[in-house]
Amino acid sequence: MRFSRLRLNGFKSFVDPTDLIIADGLTGVVGPNGCGKSNLLEALRWVMGENRPTAMRGGGMEDVIFAGAATRPARNFAEVSLVIDNTERLAPAGFNDNDMLEIVRRITRDAGSAYKVGAKDVRARDVQMLFADASTGAHSPALVRQGQISELINAKPKARRRILEEAAGISGLYQRRHEAELK
Ligand code: ATP
Ligand code: MG
Repeated sequence: MRFSRLRLNGFKSFVDPTDLIIADGLTGVVGPNGCGKSNLLEALRWVMGENRPTAMRGGGMEDVIFAGAATRPARNFAEVSLVIDNTERLAPAGFNDNDMLEIVRRITRDAGSAYKVGAKDVRARDVQMLFADASTGAHSPALVRQGQISELINAKPKARRRILEEAAGISGLYQRRHEAELK
């Protein structure tokens, strides 16, 4: 699976519809402080099903909606669309009809999030599963948040171990063992 296009509308600082073509090879995002580079990475995480507001640097999930600026009123919804090149048919059963797969997540104030894959309405879980076997997705260690490397270096051994376990994908196992021990 390869990301080929990212579209944002009302997501954080991207109040106007923004369409980004992701070409083959390495993509770099450059710009002055505060121009929205980290917001782009968060949009990618969000459309893949991220549900922790802290991972979006917000207090609540609705904080991803454009909050208004001196010259622009706030928006009532945010939408992110991710188009994936699925010519290799690596998506789970039911999603392999087309070469291109579009995933759309939309959040409306007071109405929560809704997801679509192609024309189908799906659950957050379906979107998370879609990426689960492709070594990507909202929680993938391939997405490194700003400051995360220095956090790792400066962390106490126990906290560092937790981060490494998360990266290795075994934190769930640890949690299940802990639950089993309590029983
Ligand atoms: P740096 O180089 O400092 O890391 P950056 O390019 O990563 O900067 P971001 O952190 O992506 O910048 O963008 C921050 C900007 O996004 C801030 O100006 C902030 O006000 C704006 N922003 C974040 N959330 C919202 C929101 N919900 N509505 C409007 N603007 C928002
Ligand atoms: Mg940043």
